[in-house]
Amino acid sequence: NGHSPNAWEGSRVMVIGSMGFIGGFIAEASLECGHPTYLLIRPELASLSKASTIKSLQDRGATTIYGSIKDQDVMEKVIREHKIENVISAVGGASIADQVKLVNAIKAAGTVKRFLPSEFGHDIDRADPVEPGLTMYKEKRQVRRYIEEAGIPYTYICCNSIAAWPYHDNTHPADVTPPLDRLQIYGDGTVKAYFVAGSDIGKFTIKSIDDNRTLNKTVHFRPPSNLLSTNELASLWEEKLGYKLPRVTITEDDLLAAAREMQIPQSIVAAITHDIFINSCQINYSMDQPNDVEVCSLYPELPFRTVDECFNDFAVQMISNPKLVSKPANKNGTMMPNPKPEALFI
Ligand code: NDP
Repeated sequence: NGHSPNAWEGSRVMVIGSMGFIGGFIAEASLECGHPTYLLIRPELASLSKASTIKSLQDRGATTIYGSIKDQDVMEKVIREHKIENVISAVGGASIADQVKLVNAIKAAGTVKRFLPSEFGHDIDRADPVEPGLTMYKEKRQVRRYIEEAGIPYTYICCNSIAAWPYHDNTHPADVTPPLDRLQIYGDGTVKAYFVAGSDIGKFTIKSIDDNRTLNKTVHFRPPSNLLSTNELASLWEEKLGYKLPRVTITEDDLLAAAREMQIPQSIVAAITHDIFINSCQINYSMDQPNDVEVCSLYPELPFRTVDECFNDFAVQMISNPKLVSKPANKNGTMMPNPKPEALFI
């Protein structure tokens, strides 16, 4: 193949959903690790910002393929033609069930050594959120069972929460900087959760694909340094700001009411927030099943970014781009006050 025998030639990775929130981190990490990286991109709804994201990923060596996982025949052909060895799907909530067609295509193509379905949250076989979170979990469970019945080699990534302020009414918390007017505390604020940087979700997901120890396993992200309660998160953010903010309690009933509104996707996020900070779903089980593996035990030499470091990034973003904090943080329309960059302590 023209390369020296010692040259690292990563396995061939196809990322589905790279224009989305989680998929973006995975595409970055795949390229960073030197994998030949193929991005499946839906041709419709192309926007200017998408075009520039595509261009920057192409410049870094990604190959773009246009199509949808709904098109089984095209998917089978593309996977076979490019001899794809790893398929990582990060499709959003509305497309979870469509992954069944993708599993069919993977099976028919016969080149794939590992499939990672769109998970990237909790262990959906254990967690039991209220509706409408439960419907999404049921779909993810069905996809798991379908993969297992098809005999496709898989890894399920349970990375817990993204490191950011956990807004219960915002789908992508890391898109919005932490608040500057008041801190919403869930319940008594003492329930802990794991907050993992997006770049680490990408990095450890990519680490897991060529690892025999993660074959047909669920990979749990439980870095001890990233385990914090909302009270602790609030204090950390106040430290960065250099001043205290009022704390407002969001009760269990408030979260359940937001879930009952059945606004998709906000009510799904409310249901999952309830599961995390009221039911303790990230920490109320031990990893005692034969298919459980924990990412820090697998890669003890690789550090996780701390929440402290992630919050420093938010503070820098606020200083360099004050517009970021002027949009409403939540559906109640709470406008954030102008930032006080001079007060930000990094
Ligand atoms: P997004 O909605 O941000 O992105 C989904 C991506 O999938 C988009 O690029 C979209 O394409 C693409 N896509 C959707 N349908 C198809 C299709 N039929 N064929 C090809 N591509 C398709 O998703 P998220 O990043 O929010 O969610 C991904 C996963 O991560 C979900 O399982 C979600 O539950 C989980 N998640 C976890 C979080 C955490 O804190 N742990 C936070 C957020 C999500 P297009 O650009 O054309 O729309």
